[in-house]
Amino acid sequence: MLLIFGIRIRFRTVATVAFFCPRCGGDREGLRRTARRWFTLFWIPVIPLDQVGEVVECTTCRTRFEPAVAEAPTSAALSEILGNAVRVLTAMVVRTGDPTDPVLRAAAVAHVRSVDAGYDDATLAADAVAVDPALAEPYVVPLAEGIQVSGKERLLGDLVRIALAGGTVTPDQRRVIDLAGRGLDLTPAHVTGIVTSVVAARTTDPDTPTADPPGHG
Ligand SMILES: [Zn+2]
Repeated sequence: MLLIFGIRIRFRTVATVAFFCPRCGGDREGLRRTARRWFTLFWIPVIPLDQVGEVVECTTCRTRFEPAVAEAPTSAALSEILGNAVRVLTAMVVRTGDPTDPVLRAAAVAHVRSVDAGYDDATLAADAVAVDPALAEPYVVPLAEGIQVSGKERLLGDLVRIALAGGTVTPDQRRVIDLAGRGLDLTPAHVTGIVTSVVAARTTDPDTPTADPPGHG
């Protein structure tokens, strides 16, 4: 009788993970699976051999990725980090402006409410005392790779608009914006461009959002 034997790779699920699936473009459940070579006899795996690797497999699209895919933050984690950054940076802008200015504070509260519906003036007052504006950079570093350039521009542009609610962008407020820009991996020239365009738009019409300048052929 002919003995038919061979080698086959089998996957075994060792854990489930929440991860951002690059193929689906969203948060998905992934299966962390180890691959092991098996010795087969008549196509039946009978002897486990060496482990040959690990993959993360998306339960939705079934694509297998290198395990490192699970180390990137999920959309849910990113939006939480972004919400915290908006709150902290806004409090820094208030602190480095005139924290007693009711117009500045109202603009700040309205802005943070876009990410935290329960935010109020009392919380802002506490935040403004607690934050250290010199630490603007580390709060946004996790966002540097996770959000698009347009999102970074909006984040900084909103800070400029809040500062302008208090009349002008003070040098200390500008420093907060510069540090946040550095944390987001934007060049100083890019940050200056964002500040300048928001200030210019504000001067011409306070209610017109900034638009991209027309391209040059
Ligand atoms: Zn997927």
